[in-house]
Amino acid sequence: TQDFQHPVAVALECAGTGQALPRCSGIADEFFESDGQITKRPIRALALSALAPKPGELLWDIGGGSGSIGIEWLLADPTTSAISIEPRADRAARIRVNADRLGVDRLRVIHAAAPEALQALPLPQAVFVGGGLSAALLEHLAHLPRGTRLVAHAVTLESEALLAEWQARLGGDLMKIALARAVPLGSKRAWDAAYPVVQWSVTL
Ligand code: SAH
Repeated sequence: TQDFQHPVAVALECAGTGQALPRCSGIADEFFESDGQITKRPIRALALSALAPKPGELLWDIGGGSGSIGIEWLLADPTTSAISIEPRADRAARIRVNADRLGVDRLRVIHAAAPEALQALPLPQAVFVGGGLSAALLEHLAHLPRGTRLVAHAVTLESEALLAEWQARLGGDLMKIALARAVPLGSKRAWDAAYPVVQWSVTL
């Protein structure tokens, strides 16, 4: 019809704002509504790089938060698909809004917790764990088919310990990301350190 807009064309602009949408992963946090629970831009760029989306692939984004990871997976290529799993109703609703606004209404949002919610889902080529990390979840994911790519982020000591244990078992890359931003300190500047993030990425 006349007013049909191809999703890719919509995605070139952040709906309504007139702001051009960058073509790389790691777009500004401001493109997403959030309550503060969002994988920040530089860390998100490293997540998408490790996830390495390819045409036709499906992502499970576990711990959807604002939806930013699943949304950027979808923006990377128009033939990808993604499922965002988020147990908090307010966040699940926000993921829907963010996805629609950025032109990727093909994002499927599951309002439930992992690992319980995963049984019913179609098998993915890649999985991101940004929340809900537990031994039970990693056990479940380890049983996905060979070739599935897993990328998990940990901030707490407890979840970092889990990732260290699982890297010893399954291999893959364990990386610690320590970012700091320059901020004013009196009349000078100093480094304001974010919590370090540990990223484990492995191909099963
Ligand atoms: N990657 C997200 C931020 C994740 S914050 C973004 O960029 O927006 C972690 C999220 O994990 C929170 O929203 C929290 O509600 C969710 N979470 C906690 N336990 C979970 C579980 N068992 N399964 C799925 N999600 C969970």
